[in-house]
Amino acid sequence: MTANFRFAQPNTRVRLGQRKIVRVRRGQDLVEVVAWASVVAVLAMFLIDGGVKQVTDVTTGLGALSRLTALVGTDLLLIHMLLVARVPWVDRLYGLDKSTEAHKKLGKPILYLIVAHFLASLVNYAMLDQKAILAELTNLVFNVPDMLTATIALILMIAVVVSSIQIARKRLSYEAWWLIHLLSYASVFLAIPHQISTGSDIAGKPFAMFYWISLYLFVAGNIVWYRFLEPIVLSLRLGLKVETTVRESSDATSIYITGKNLEKLGYEAGQFFILRVLTKGQWWRAHPFSVSAAPNSRFVRFTIGNRGDDTSLLQTIKPGTRIVLEGPYGVFTEARRSREKVTLICAGIGAPPIRSLAESMAARPGDINIIYRTRQTDDAALVDELTDLSQRRGFKLTLLEGGRGGANSWMPAHPENIPDHARISVIAPWISESDVFICGPAAWTRSVKKSLLRAGTPEHQIHAEEFAW
Ligand SMILES: Cc1cc2nc3c(=O)[nH]c(=O)nc-3n(C[C@H](O)[C@H](O)[C@H](O)COP(=O)(O)OP(=O)(O)OC[C@H]3O[C@@H](n4cnc5c(N)ncnc54)[C@H](O)[C@@H]3O)c2cc1C
Repeated sequence: MTANFRFAQPNTRVRLGQRKIVRVRRGQDLVEVVAWASVVAVLAMFLIDGGVKQVTDVTTGLGALSRLTALVGTDLLLIHMLLVARVPWVDRLYGLDKSTEAHKKLGKPILYLIVAHFLASLVNYAMLDQKAILAELTNLVFNVPDMLTATIALILMIAVVVSSIQIARKRLSYEAWWLIHLLSYASVFLAIPHQISTGSDIAGKPFAMFYWISLYLFVAGNIVWYRFLEPIVLSLRLGLKVETTVRESSDATSIYITGKNLEKLGYEAGQFFILRVLTKGQWWRAHPFSVSAAPNSRFVRFTIGNRGDDTSLLQTIKPGTRIVLEGPYGVFTEARRSREKVTLICAGIGAPPIRSLAESMAARPGDINIIYRTRQTDDAALVDELTDLSQRRGFKLTLLEGGRGGANSWMPAHPENIPDHARISVIAPWISESDVFICGPAAWTRSVKKSLLRAGTPEHQIHAEEFAW
């Protein structure tokens, strides 16, 4: 446990009210309009190029279907990749969890479009060449330039989407899932040559060529810079390394990371980084962790629960170990606060971002109410610091200790079975007037949200960070 922690100065000002939230929504609208406009643009190019006019029989119909599904599918695929490229301008508007959700929703429709493109082309060529389907497939794959790589690209894409289906995901380790997802880059890369050599929509058409090359370069540039180069360059320049570790509970440890000019990391309390440990066995496996202390010039701190193989190794990480931080990410920050009163609710290893928010938020005594759900308070990470912070800053801290009250309850059992929404209104009487920040396991978070809505807190005042991938 950390005694005498040197807290950072809290923010002195915060802009409240709906205006900044409306500004974020406008930004989201703009991005969505541009994304849809790109789909309309490829449709327009297809129509202007006589896409429908040329349809006179089954084969020309199949040809048109093949072109259309390829164009729309590829456009959506590039948007799909951008959504999880961890690009700051996407993250600032949506947060990584919302953009990942949109990415997941797009996965299957894109696969259907690309499979439809493949089938329509295959049947079309088979009819034109008067060959059986299998014979045509062999002919295309082995005799037509770039079709072998395009077929491999399709197989890789199917593997990526199948690995994302819920049942398959549950059986895969995060590392296996991540490695399969890396194949999606290979898939897009392998498909490019056939689009240029056999695709009739790009070759010889200057506008289409300009559009597609710009789109590919824009997406590739964002991915290469933000996902790969920037984190490595910045972390090496700042010389990030582990300074020390501090045991916080029987299954959680804080890791203090130091370096030069830490303010260059530009993070806010409540955000998270993807942490990569540069040791022989772990350098290729990065994991997300929230900062557990407000930004300061001395260190960046993460508090890590022992949940699996890598988090177990992190409990005993050696001082001096080099670190690469990718980020910061997430919109679980004071930037999304619109009300004067704030309620911070956490459970288990959801405590780190809540702890950093409590340290940094601009507040007067009485403005912030913290609720920490623990199984056993004397073995819960960061309780001492939250207690100390609450005393210094005049916040109310409620520790809810004990086993679950019921299957749908997020609180400990109550002798009179009072429902959660009634109990939360007693613990935080102005809950409906406050912004509420929740961090904890996914099912628990959903349960908290439900009781907040029943207690009268409007949905737009509820901010949740799910520790899910
Ligand atoms: C935005 C965000 C912030 C987080 N902040 C913290 C934090 O401050 N402190 C903390 O202790 N934990 C945090 N986590 C969870 C932490 O990332 C995982 O516990 C960790 O990655 C598990 O790695 P492992 O190899 O030890 O576990 P594994 O053995 O691979 O898996 C153990 C469990 O962790 C989950 N998991 C594995 N890898 C990831 C991953 N990359 N992202 C999310 N879940 C994963 C698995 O689904 C499984 O349930 C956060 C997760 C997210 C998404």
